[in-house]
Amino acid sequence: MSTRDADVDAVGPPVVNEGLELTTARLATVGNQTLRRLLPLRQRRSVGAWCFADHYGPMSVDGVGMNVPPHPHIGIQTVTWLLAGDVLHTDSLGSEQLIRPGQLNLMTAGRGIAHAEVSPATHDPQLHGVQLWVALPDAARTTAPGFEHHGVLPFMRADGFDVTVFMGSFGGLRSPATTFSDIVGAQLTARWNLRAPVALAPSFEHVIFVVSGWARVASVTKDTDTGMEQGPVALEPGNMLYLPPGREDVTVTAADETTLILLGGVPLGEPLLMWWNFVARTPEEIAAAVAQWRDGEFGVVGGYAGEPLAAPPLDPRRLIIRA
Ligand code: MN
Repeated sequence: MSTRDADVDAVGPPVVNEGLELTTARLATVGNQTLRRLLPLRQRRSVGAWCFADHYGPMSVDGVGMNVPPHPHIGIQTVTWLLAGDVLHTDSLGSEQLIRPGQLNLMTAGRGIAHAEVSPATHDPQLHGVQLWVALPDAARTTAPGFEHHGVLPFMRADGFDVTVFMGSFGGLRSPATTFSDIVGAQLTARWNLRAPVALAPSFEHVIFVVSGWARVASVTKDTDTGMEQGPVALEPGNMLYLPPGREDVTVTAADETTLILLGGVPLGEPLLMWWNFVARTPEEIAAAVAQWRDGEFGVVGGYAGEPLAAPPLDPRRLIIRA
């Protein structure tokens, strides 16, 4: 997946309650797809090291299929996670990998890589998934590029949830995927109508969002002064709840078969500069990456029939650094 512009803030003021923030996704267009862009937020460029989150579908890709032409990345890992359908990844290292639901495609861009994502020639007519980016901490962001596929990931059944951990650690499980900071990326699916606590790492900040179904999150609390009850937050596809560090759990009420994504990590504490598909620290680094892409220095993505994506015009006024 590829972002068209740097102005990727989700819309709507956050609802703040005891540090919780409910935000609404911005609708964005990538290629022939409309999707819900949940991260980054204007007030929050990253959650742990997670700095980008798109939720797309479920939608029909019968016939034409998904088609994201070759484009470059620096400074991040891209995390591809599907709920339905299949996507073929190719990159400038020569990787070629089909991914299906429950599997992880993890591309470490490091100092630079290019990739394309398309529906395979014969593909599932439905597509549903999330495209996530993890910012590389400063010490790791010029690491060598790499690609890994994990067909089997840690799984458990806990408190009525089917839990798959695709990145980092959660509930005593650890994903085999390469990470460069303490993070979690997990999928939780309710096996029936349930209300259960989900354990959180207190040193992590988190976001939680629904990709299918509906849920209510956080507990009902009573204001001791007014007697008013603060209800739980309703989640459905297109919104997201932020939970600050310091929590040991969050109570989730979910309908049968609802699927939630939990992302989190130790706050990154580094300013991120995001432009197009590049995450860096200075405008000079972004300008250098744009020039390298223009000059073909990211290498060739083999097997793709069409033209690569061109970088949009670089407008220094839109390069904004925020922690
Ligand atoms: Mn990409």
